[in-house]
Amino acid sequence: MADPVIRVCGLGKSYRTAAGLFPALREVDLEIQAGEFVAIMGPSGSGKSTFMNLLGCLDTPSCGEYFLTGQRVAQLSRDQLAELRNRSIGFVFQGFNLLPRMTLADNVALPLVYAGVERDQRQRRALDELARVGLGEYGNALPSRISGGQQQRVAIARALVNSPQLILADEPTGNLDSHTSEEIMMLFAALNREGITIVLVTHEPDIAAHAGRQVRFRDGRVVSDAPTPARVPTAC
Ligand code: ADP
Ligand code: MG
Repeated sequence: MADPVIRVCGLGKSYRTAAGLFPALREVDLEIQAGEFVAIMGPSGSGKSTFMNLLGCLDTPSCGEYFLTGQRVAQLSRDQLAELRNRSIGFVFQGFNLLPRMTLADNVALPLVYAGVERDQRQRRALDELARVGLGEYGNALPSRISGGQQQRVAIARALVNSPQLILADEPTGNLDSHTSEEIMMLFAALNREGITIVLVTHEPDIAAHAGRQVRFRDGRVVSDAPTPARVPTAC
């Protein structure tokens, strides 16, 4: 069988604070297979973002092991890690994180600059990804000209531009109204149907319902991990 996209064993992270070491994540064991759509849930402060930052190789664990697509992350050199991250993972954040003075196409193309792709091809791929999220006409616009939901679509296009197999999204609908959130979740669901593995943090049960599996954190530990229950039709 193929390696899981994500495998963590005994993963932990403690932060150094004035009061001493604070264990934000404690001995988490988890596997995520290619093609899964996983919602990470749990109250504020339960370690969700800490976990996502470790999955994204944006931070290093205090203990435990992390295998990303079968590769032991701790063994990789800084360059190998940057390359693996750039090639394998697309990131989506709550605050969209678009650069305000760059056009939408240039925002989407940014990961390709780091990947060393030449300008014409960058532009072409950025416009393709904008079209994929329904914003094909907006390549030359600035972020301030579009709505929050559209900005998050652009951020998703940017996450897709390197054709990653994994998308990590930390509360991507946290700044959006419920209707727009639903549209964004439909987009994630469509990408998942195309085969992209998605790990998405949310507080909201309605949002998590789009995922096939729900992993719940509390005080830095996984307290439940189960398939999303089938929706029961509600009587009017
Ligand atoms: P969540 O995303 O579930 O709200 P976080 O992973 O952001 O939770 O935080 C988990 C715990 O770790 C919280 O108590 C938070 O205050 C603490 N924490 C997060 N980042 C740091 C840091 N850089 N330094 C110290 N404590 C931190
Ligand atoms: Mg968080």
